[in-house]
Amino acid sequence: MFSDKIRISSHSKKLLENSKRHKGFYEKYSSVVSKILKKPSFQNFMKWMLRKESIDADSVEKIHVMVLPFRKENGKSLAGKYVKNEICIYPKRLGFCRKLMEKHGKKKAYAYLKNRARATLIHEFLHVKYSSDEEKVRQLTKEYFEIFSKNQNHQSENGRGLLKFR
Ligand SMILES: [Zn+2]
Repeated sequence: MFSDKIRISSHSKKLLENSKRHKGFYEKYSSVVSKILKKPSFQNFMKWMLRKESIDADSVEKIHVMVLPFRKENGKSLAGKYVKNEICIYPKRLGFCRKLMEKHGKKKAYAYLKNRARATLIHEFLHVKYSSDEEKVRQLTKEYFEIFSKNQNHQSENGRGLLKFR
């Protein structure tokens, strides 16, 4: 479906050189995110959601999994954005991830980061339809993400959970 639209984008080479020390971490992070967004179970869910919302999947031409975090002027980080038919998904910063791993362990930390990427893609696709209605997009992201996670848990129990998204 849109898995062929997903690519890893590393900003400019210069920027990546500047963060050489953390290069390995961010490259691994982006490849994990790209992989989980391409998973058939998630693609099926997205297909179902887009159909339900009457959003044309082709209104998004490219999905960039960004290697480096985006820092806004107020210092806060950005999860994603939708501009001119393209969606960008940004990672959490290394410092944040380290703390997360120390506190909750590697497995839980990874689960959090994966879910964050999934929720970001859901969120940005909803912006295609609801443009700048942030409140509506947030509300729906929450609802859809809950449906996805419930189904995912269910699926791991009996392996059939995602049938209803087909
Ligand atoms: Zn938003």
